[in-house]
Amino acid sequence: MSLHSQGTAAAEITPDISEYAYIDTKPSLPPEANIELKQEPIAETKQAELKPDVKPKPESTTPSAVECIRVVEDFGHKTFVISGVRVHFPFQPYPSQLGMMNHMIRALNSAQNTMIESPTGSGKSLALLCAVLAWRQSFEAKHRQTLANVRQTIRRYSEHNSMAFVKQMLAAKHDDLFAEVPVSKEGSKHVDTLQSADSGNISDEALAEAWNQIIPGSQPLVKPDPEQQVVIDTTIASPMPKPDADITPIADASPVFLLNQALSYMRETVQFILDQAKATPPDGLTAADMDELRDYTQNAAQVKAIPRIYFGTRTHKQVSQLVNELRRKTPYRLRSAVLGSRAQTCINHQVKKSGSIDEECRKLVDDSMCGPHHIYRKLLAHKKLQRQGDLEIWDLEDIETLGRETRSCPYFAARDLSGTADLVFCPYNYILDPGVRGSAGVELEGNVVILDEAHNVENAARDSGSLEITDEQLHVVAAECRMMVDRGTLRMEHETVGTLASTLVNWLKDSDHPYEYLEFDTQTAVWPRSGESLDDLLERILLSPQFVAQLQKAVSVIEGYIKDVRSRKEKRRWDDENNLNRYKKGQLMEEEEEDSRHLSTGSMRLLEQLLRVLGHLAPDSPFRQDYRVACIRKSKSQHMPEGVAASGPKYRPRKRRKIGPDLPASDCVNVLAFWALNPGVVFSEIASKARTIVLTSGTLSPLDSYASELQVKFSSTLEANHVIDSQRFRALAVECGTSGELLEGKYKNVDLLSFQDDLGNAIAEIVSRSPDGMLVFVPSYSLLAKLMARWKVTECLSEIEVHKRVFIEPQGGSKEEFDRLLTTYRDSLAKNRPASRQPALRGAIMFAVYRGKVSEGIDFSDYFCRTVVNIGIPYPAFKDVKVVLKRQYNDDRSTPNRDDPSQGVLLNGAKWYDIQAFRAINQALGRCLRHKMDWGVIIMLESRFAQRWNVERLSKWVRQYMGVYRTFDEAKLDLDAFYKARIKEDIDAGIDDSLVNDILPACSSLGLSSPTTVATHTVNSPLNT
Ligand code: SF4
Repeated sequence: MSLHSQGTAAAEITPDISEYAYIDTKPSLPPEANIELKQEPIAETKQAELKPDVKPKPESTTPSAVECIRVVEDFGHKTFVISGVRVHFPFQPYPSQLGMMNHMIRALNSAQNTMIESPTGSGKSLALLCAVLAWRQSFEAKHRQTLANVRQTIRRYSEHNSMAFVKQMLAAKHDDLFAEVPVSKEGSKHVDTLQSADSGNISDEALAEAWNQIIPGSQPLVKPDPEQQVVIDTTIASPMPKPDADITPIADASPVFLLNQALSYMRETVQFILDQAKATPPDGLTAADMDELRDYTQNAAQVKAIPRIYFGTRTHKQVSQLVNELRRKTPYRLRSAVLGSRAQTCINHQVKKSGSIDEECRKLVDDSMCGPHHIYRKLLAHKKLQRQGDLEIWDLEDIETLGRETRSCPYFAARDLSGTADLVFCPYNYILDPGVRGSAGVELEGNVVILDEAHNVENAARDSGSLEITDEQLHVVAAECRMMVDRGTLRMEHETVGTLASTLVNWLKDSDHPYEYLEFDTQTAVWPRSGESLDDLLERILLSPQFVAQLQKAVSVIEGYIKDVRSRKEKRRWDDENNLNRYKKGQLMEEEEEDSRHLSTGSMRLLEQLLRVLGHLAPDSPFRQDYRVACIRKSKSQHMPEGVAASGPKYRPRKRRKIGPDLPASDCVNVLAFWALNPGVVFSEIASKARTIVLTSGTLSPLDSYASELQVKFSSTLEANHVIDSQRFRALAVECGTSGELLEGKYKNVDLLSFQDDLGNAIAEIVSRSPDGMLVFVPSYSLLAKLMARWKVTECLSEIEVHKRVFIEPQGGSKEEFDRLLTTYRDSLAKNRPASRQPALRGAIMFAVYRGKVSEGIDFSDYFCRTVVNIGIPYPAFKDVKVVLKRQYNDDRSTPNRDDPSQGVLLNGAKWYDIQAFRAINQALGRCLRHKMDWGVIIMLESRFAQRWNVERLSKWVRQYMGVYRTFDEAKLDLDAFYKARIKEDIDAGIDDSLVNDILPACSSLGLSSPTTVATHTVNSPLNT
C-alpha cells in the first residue's frame, strides 16, 4: 500500500493555463502547462519598458503571471513576446521552457539574481540561451534607439554652435575610444584622421566620414544628411556582406563593443552640453531635448554598456553542447567565444606530449620560443571567424583546426576573442576562480553571469577561495629568488620574496607540529587553535600585516620588471623579423642574457594567489574569520604533482603508504593550506560586479542553502517540473527488504551480513523485473567492494548475472579507461535490443558511487537506464578534516553576530551536512529520464525515505510523486505493472530502439533529444516541428 498518496501529488501540478496571456488565435500551449513560479515581486526597471509591437496584454493579467504572447511564426521558428521581449524559439516550447524564459527575462530586466531548477531533458539550456539572447538583443535595440535620439539632439545643438566642442571632445576622448580597438591598416587611416582633429585643421565632412568608418553603422556626428533616417536594427543576423579577404577591413571588434565605446563618449558629450546649459541656455535645443539629455545622464548607469553574457558550465563537454545548441537550434547570431584550456587547444606537439602542458607552455611563452604563439593574432582576423563567417559561432575544436591550418595558437587567440565577444562560454571555474578570471580576461562588471549545472558552485567557490602550496613549489620560488639576488637584479625585492619562501619551507618541515587530525596517509594541524590565534601564527611564519605590505610592494616591482623584459623580448623579435636589427655586435647577446632570467610564470602566479588570500586575512578584511590555515603532511603516494593529469603519460599512481615517523622525509609532501570555509569569499565579489547572476541546474534542491551559503540575495527561484508525463515514471521508496527486515543503510548497519544479503536479494528481484539498463548507487567505494565480495560468496551476484551483465564503476583510473567501460556497457545493451526489453533476458547493470564518475554529467536515456536504485544516504565523510571545520564554522555563524550584525547567518552545521548528502542523491537520480518520451523507475532501497522530511529534500519532480511501500512484495506488484504497461506501450507504438543509429541524424535536425522521441513523434506528432 502506498503511504503517500500519488493522487494528491498529481493535483499539485494541475495545469493553470490562465497564467498565459495569448493574444492571437493560433494553437495555444499544450494543456499540461505544469509550471509553478515562485517569485517575489520584481521591481521593473526602465529596460523592462520596451514595448512589444503586438496587441496589448489583457488588463486582467496579474503582474506575477507569465507574460507570454505568441506572435508570429517566421524564420522557420516561432516568436513569442515574453515579459516585453521578443523571443525566437526553434519549435513549440514546453510549458516549463516558457516558464523558465519568462522567469529569466524578468530577472534580467530588473537586474536581479535568480535560481532555476529544471530537470535534465526539459530543454533548459535551449530555453536559457534563447531567453538571454533575446533579452540582450532587445537591450541592444534600446541602446541604439537611445544613442540615436541623443545624437540627433547633439546634432541640432552643433548646428547652432561651432563644431569646436565636438572636435575638442573627440580629441580628448580619442585614447579611450580607440586604444582598446584593434584596427587594421585601413581602419588606422581613419583613426589618424580623427587624431588630426586635435590640430583643428580638418574639415567637418572629413571628421564625420572618419567617425562613421570607425564606428560601423553609426550616424555621422556632424553635417547629417537631412534625408537620413535613424534605423534601429532589431533583426536577427542582419544581412551583412560576407568578408571576402582573410583580414576584415575595418576592425575586428564587434559592433557592439564599438557601440559601447561610443556610449562612453556620448555620456561625456551630453554632460558637456548640460553643463553649458547651466550657464547659458543653448541655442536650438527645445525643453523636450533637454529633458531627453537629462534622462540619458540620469540613466547612464543602466545604459552604460550592453552586457556581455558569460555562460559557464561544469565541463568542456557541456560547453560544446551549449555551442551546438546555439549554432544548430537558435536563430541568434552574435559574436561568441569559448574559453578553454591549453590541454584542449595547444597545437605544439612537443608541449602536448609533455604531460604538463600548462607549465611547458608558460616556459616557452616566457622565452618567446613558441612559433604559434608569435602569430596567434593571425587567427583573430581569420575571415571564417568574422560576422557572417562560416565559424561566426565556433567551438574549441573549430578554432583548434583553424589554428592548425594557420599554424597560430588557438589558446591565446580564443582568450583574445573572448575580450570582444558578446557571448562567452566557459567552464565555470573561469568565472569563479579570481586568478583564472584575471588571466583569462573575464570581466564581470555590469555583465550577465549564467552558471549552468550550478549544483557544485558552492563547493567550487570555496575551493576557488582556498589555496594549497607545497614545499616543492616554495623551493622553486626560493631558488629562483636566490639566482636573481646573485645576479644583482632587484636584489631587495627578490630577497624579500626568497626569505618568505625559505621561512615557509622550514616551518613546514618542522616535525613538531601539533597534528590533531590523523589519517592513514595524512596528518593535519589547523589554526586558529587553543593557545595560538591565526594572527599569532601568521606573525610566526613571517606573514604579519607589515611584512605582507612589504611583500606586496616587492611582487609588484618584480611584476613590472618582468613586463619590461617581455616587451623588450617582443621588440627584439619584431626587429629581427623585419630586418631592423639595430644592435651592435655583442650588444644583442648581452641584452638577451640580461633578459633570460626572471621569476617563472608559475612562481609569479603562486605569489599572486598567496597575496590574494593574505588580502582576505588582513585585519580590515570582512573575510578574515572565514579562513583556517593548515599544515598538512602527506605520503607522496597520494600527492599528484601540479600539472600532471591522472590520464597523462607522466602519471604513475603509487601504493598508499602510512604516514608517521618511520616514513622518510623524501617520501613526504608538506603542504601549507589556506582553506576558505565561506564560498561568499569569492562569490560575493562576483555578485557585486555582475548585473545579474542566474544559477541553474537539474538538481539545485534544496534551494535554501544557496542564498545563505553564497552570501548573495536571489530575488526569485523557480522549481520547474519534469516534462515527462507522470504516468511514464515511478518514484518509490521501499522500507523493508525481502526478509521483512528494515533496510536502513546507516553506518552501524552496512557491515551486517544480514543487511548486505537483504540488499543483494532485493536487487536480484528488481533485476529480474527491470528491462534493459539499470544503475545502482551506493554511498562509498568501500561499501561497494564489501557488497560485491559478499554477493560473490552468497552467489547473489551470479543470480544478477543471469539477467544482466554486471559493470562496476572503478575508483580512480584514467578517463580513457572509464570511457571504454561506458562504451562496453552501452554496446552490450544496444546489441541485445529489442530482445533485452524482456527482463528475463540479458540487459546490463552498472554499480556506481554517489558523487562518482557515473553520477554526474552522463546521459543514460531510454534503454540505457530504465531503473535507478539508490542505497543509503551519502553523507560526506564525518571525520574528514574539512567537513569537521565547515560544520563547526557554520554552527558558529548560524545565529546573528551581536558584535557584527552585518555578518550573514548561515545554515547550521548539521543542516549543511544533510544538504550535501541529498544533493548527491538528486544528482544521481537525474541520470535517467532524459527527455519527454523517456520512461523509468527510481527506487530508494532505504527505510529513511518513509520519513517525510527526507523526501522533502529531494528534487521537486521526484518528491511530489514519491510512493512509499512498507513491504518489498507490495513494491514488486507496482513495479511489474509499471514495466509491463510501458513495454506494451513501446511495442504498440512500434518503437524499436535498435534503430537508434539510423534515426539519430533526423533526431538532431529536428532539435529533439533522442531517437525514441523521433519515433514517437512520427506516431503522435505532438511537438512536430
Ligand atoms: S603558446 Fe599555444 S601553441 Fe604554444 S605551447 Fe602554448 S598553448 Fe601550445
